[in-house]
Amino acid sequence: MIPLDARTSRTMSRVRSTGTTPETRVGQALRAIGLRYRKHVRALPGTPDFANRTQGWAVLVHGCFWHRHGCKRTTTPVHNAEHWAAKFARNQARDARVEAALAAAGLKVITIWECETRDAAALQARLAGELARTPPRSDMGGR
Ligand SMILES: [Zn+2]
Repeated sequence: MIPLDARTSRTMSRVRSTGTTPETRVGQALRAIGLRYRKHVRALPGTPDFANRTQGWAVLVHGCFWHRHGCKRTTTPVHNAEHWAAKFARNQARDARVEAALAAAGLKVITIWECETRDAAALQARLAGELARTPPRSDMGGR
């Protein structure tokens, strides 16, 4: 497991909890396509927003601004530019570490951006395409 600096984790969870809607929409989409999950799985690196360890996947919901999606919501504050640049760089570095750690733990990692959560049908199709066809079948009881 990767040690994440506690202050960053706290900040990020505060940010997440203020803008709950993208995460709520992802939860609804997962339920709509029949996938079960746990939320904020602390036992996994980076406490992924949604995960199902039995099925081997984790879904991260990223705010476009904080995580620098590159879409039109990815605005950059003019004041304190250096402060923001450093903050964004830390967020992106953390995202990369978390994704690598989850992949190393054997999980398929899906990142859903805030702006992708507005179209429920498209969101469900994306999640279904990425996750619904991954459950292990033939190699049950392999070793
Ligand atoms: Zn975006």
